[in-house]
Amino acid sequence: MRYPPARKSASRSNHSSNSGRSSVRKPSLFSGLVYCMDCGAVMTYHRTHGENEAKARFICSNYRKNSKTTCSVHGIREEDLYAIVLDDLRRVTHFARQNERKFAEYIGKKRTREAQKEMRGLEKQIK
Ligand SMILES: [Zn+2]
Repeated sequence: MRYPPARKSASRSNHSSNSGRSSVRKPSLFSGLVYCMDCGAVMTYHRTHGENEAKARFICSNYRKNSKTTCSVHGIREEDLYAIVLDDLRRVTHFARQNERKFAEYIGKKRTREAQKEMRGLEKQIK
């Protein structure tokens, strides 16, 4: 497991209605959030069956669908993404602690409850 340790007790309820099978491949935390820098297409999560989770990566969906004609092969390993995002989050949370009011204003502007929820979850993980 290369994932940062998650506080399972905090985020998971006992009566999980939709995850009966434990072998179900879990989607990435970043699914739908990563975009190709060159063409702007969403980058899709990939993990070859049976492959180590550390090898999971995001690949430009444009490249996948249309092969080499529209975009070049872009990929980022999920664990690298984690490192980048966590690093970023640490900076942001540090900033938030230093500038609480400014940060609240910034978040208020974004008005995406989903993003805030996600942020809190991630914040818990890195504390
Ligand atoms: Zn692309």
